[in-house]
Amino acid sequence: MSDRITFTHPEPLPHATRVWPVFLPFAGCPYRCVFCAQDKQTGQDEVDLEIIFQTLEQELDQALARGRGPYELAFYGGTFTALPSPWPEKFLGLAMRFRERGLVMHVRCSTRPDCVDDSGLSMLRAQGLDMVELGIQSFDDAALRRSGRGYAGDTARRACELVKNAGLGLGVQLLPGLPGDRPGIFAEDVRIAADMEPETARLYPCIVVRGTPLATMWERGEYESWSLDRAREELAAALPVLWDKNVRVIRLGLAPEGTLEENILAGPWHPALGQSVRGTALFEIVRQQVAELGRVPASLSAPRRYSGEFYGHGRELASQYFEIGLSEQSVRFGDVAEFVLG
Ligand code: SF4
Repeated sequence: MSDRITFTHPEPLPHATRVWPVFLPFAGCPYRCVFCAQDKQTGQDEVDLEIIFQTLEQELDQALARGRGPYELAFYGGTFTALPSPWPEKFLGLAMRFRERGLVMHVRCSTRPDCVDDSGLSMLRAQGLDMVELGIQSFDDAALRRSGRGYAGDTARRACELVKNAGLGLGVQLLPGLPGDRPGIFAEDVRIAADMEPETARLYPCIVVRGTPLATMWERGEYESWSLDRAREELAAALPVLWDKNVRVIRLGLAPEGTLEENILAGPWHPALGQSVRGTALFEIVRQQVAELGRVPASLSAPRRYSGEFYGHGRELASQYFEIGLSEQSVRFGDVAEFVLG
């Protein structure tokens, strides 16, 4: 039994840079994956790279003239490394021009694991790319096959190594609950991803969006999605595994962008899923510390930055805190760096 216990949140500190997203829906994608709804997320069906380029150039010019920034430029929504020539070098050249003028600090892109190789990544790095986010989705061969991803788990592992060996920052995206999912697959995917020690991870539970091949599979009864409760539990269990390897988890669930929300047919989507998951993970940390304390705690002092997620969404965790002896009156948030359980 202890007098009091002091502990910190295991999450790595977030980066302060503002992200400037540039959406290139489906650009460079060899085909449309069964679950993918970039058109609904971005509100765009067709992509004209010339228009995107010109618009970006104008907006960067305006931002510079107004003294904004600096920004991290992020090319999302397609397969950047498979864009037809000369687009990767054109976009990176544009980013470089604004980097030299102090507006852009960092450049990243997202791509598929089967669309990277040694020489291509080295070339993109030389042209100013800093980081690659790989849409791994899963390392499991069966889930990848049933989802029609067109590569195996080994390809995904190798792609992580290629990115790191090229001297680029690595980000991974996982998509739990794909067709072919089985109990334990996501936990194993998280373990493998954490072992790759990426800088960042995004966890997007699979949802069924109107107009996708997955929607047809779901309508025919060939696909069953995760429940929201399962997503919350599995994602909350994944966080400490990733935090333990210093991985920043920068997104939990798809953002309600474009026309996504109105087109969701099934699956574990909720606008506050991230808050709920982070709250659940934090509750487990506190619960373990209370067990360590060995008695009913009298109080908990906590850093203010966790006040928004502490009780989860809609105070869903308040009764669980009460059960471990922490009433709402005994928890105080303040300008402190550590949690103190007394
Ligand atoms: S999941 Fe990625 S690779 Fe597949 S269609 Fe969507 S953007 Fe393209």
